[in-house]
Amino acid sequence: MPWAFFPGRSDYVPGDPLAEALGAGRTNRRASPPWIRLFQQTSGHPWWLPWRHDGRGCPGCGQRVTFAVWTRPRADRCAYSALCLACGRATSEYVSATNRGMSEASLSGSEWSPPCVAVARLRRAVFSPPQG
Ligand SMILES: [Zn+2]
Repeated sequence: MPWAFFPGRSDYVPGDPLAEALGAGRTNRRASPPWIRLFQQTSGHPWWLPWRHDGRGCPGCGQRVTFAVWTRPRADRCAYSALCLACGRATSEYVSATNRGMSEASLSGSEWSPPCVAVARLRRAVFSPPQG
């Protein structure tokens, strides 16, 4: 009989210890909203995005759980992506990497399924391979 030990949950006996141990710490696909999965996925291999906490309140829900990251989806474009973990409000702004001060209008939205333009742009920005 396989055995799994969960720190801090000594009386917990999982139904399938091996599967539970291998999947420990993973987010439940069905229970987690898509923005939480995106945040967790891009925080690890192979993206390792350095999401930083933005202390300002979310304009959508007022919670202070917005994280933001800069990426470079194209050689000539940097992208600023901000994501509220409470309501899924996504903000995406593309800034020229070659012309200082040039940027496209910032877009915000909270529709994930199907994704609105802001969410689609944020997804593109965070999942694209980094450019040199
Ligand atoms: Zn929010």
